[in-house]
Amino acid sequence: MLIKINIEKCTGCATCVNVCPFGAIIIKEDKAFITESCTLCGACVESCSEGAIIDARDKEVEKPKDFKGVWIFAEQSQGKIASVAYELLGIGRKLADELKSELCAVLFGNSDEVQELIKWGADKVYYVNSPDYICLDDELYSKTLVKLVNDYKPEIMLAGATAIGRSFIPRVAAKLRVGLTADCTGLEIDKETGNLLQIRPAFGGNIMATIVSPNSRPQIATVRPRVMKRGEYNPERKGEIIEVEPLKPSGRIKILERVEDTSFCKVNLQDAKVIVSGGRGIGGPEGFKALWELANLLGGTVGASRAAVDEGWIPYAHQVGQTGKTVCPKLYIACGISGAVQHLVGMQSSDIIVAINKDPNAPIFNIATYGIVGDVKIILPLLIKKIQEGVS
Ligand code: FAD
Ligand code: SF4
Repeated sequence: MLIKINIEKCTGCATCVNVCPFGAIIIKEDKAFITESCTLCGACVESCSEGAIIDARDKEVEKPKDFKGVWIFAEQSQGKIASVAYELLGIGRKLADELKSELCAVLFGNSDEVQELIKWGADKVYYVNSPDYICLDDELYSKTLVKLVNDYKPEIMLAGATAIGRSFIPRVAAKLRVGLTADCTGLEIDKETGNLLQIRPAFGGNIMATIVSPNSRPQIATVRPRVMKRGEYNPERKGEIIEVEPLKPSGRIKILERVEDTSFCKVNLQDAKVIVSGGRGIGGPEGFKALWELANLLGGTVGASRAAVDEGWIPYAHQVGQTGKTVCPKLYIACGISGAVQHLVGMQSSDIIVAINKDPNAPIFNIATYGIVGDVKIILPLLIKKIQEGVS
């Protein structure tokens, strides 16, 4: 908190209470106290005749020293731990090893898979096992995570850039008054300072920005599913599970019903092993027929660039990229896709990338494992025929 009360000087006169437009100052035991509602607007600073309000907003803050360890938030849905949690453990393990510190996971709700977190790399799991935590309750989740952070002081906190992570992690960062870098595509440790280098596309994906939070702890970052690779699985790995006392929900949020968005989930791009994607170069909605045929032959599914989605050739649920899904299949076949950076950030960690494009200078060839220069309308039928011959 960068606006503070000097308790020694405060007389409890309550002048500042009436000045604060956000009702963020309360009087407790005859002293002013700034609550979580403070927006740092600074309206109170001049109001105190005793000079008891300290404004440190523009001052250099010394890096807190007693924060240690890397934490990941392991989200679950109906008891099943999300795949992104294991991916976060993969990168978390690397960061923790580099910092020579421990890797901890935080799990809310109820799950039979707690031990899996240890087998995938966690040294400890802070487990709040309570029915109140089974579904996301933003208030309860953020309050509990803030309490855990204040009690144990991790240096780094990672979470999935998922519906759950995006919903409550910003509250955690705001309550702790620390920074948050969303949708990171790379995370590294600065060898000199030990700061977390949080790398993500910026300015519409035109540059890759490296963001640091040198003066506050924990350093909080979210990562989209499928961006990081899982670490090593060791069924013999041992760790500690620490049961954490649940907090009471405020009751202001009630889950009335859970409705799955099946239209989005049916297109299971994120778990597909093979994706055949089409861009503007396939020429129209009928161009997707050949893509489906090839995808079906290879046991995969169909993706698309934003240009193809914007043209209305295929629904948004198929879009790959910065504003679509991030995918990491074993095989990604890009058909008539130029390779704009916004598309690449969603698929460049695929194991094998095959690009078909009639322009030999298309940027997609810079990241392709195999490139075919030619017209998709000619190449795709040939490819399908060859695979059919091989299959039959
Ligand atoms: P184009 O760039 O038009 O490329 C078509 C390609 O097809 C060309 O390389 C051409 O040589 C080739 N071609 C043409 N005809 C043939 C043929 N007969 N045979 C073979 N090749 C052929 N894009 C995404 O994909 N996903 C996103 O999530 C996304 N998010 C964005 C977010 C922001 C904020 C912004 C600003 C942009 C975003 N974009 C995204 C858009 C992105 O910048 C590109 O415009 C888009 O990816 C281009 O799609 P495309 O490659 O299909 O089309
Ligand atoms: Fe209230 Fe603004 Fe002072 Fe914060 S800085 S306590 S919001 S008046």
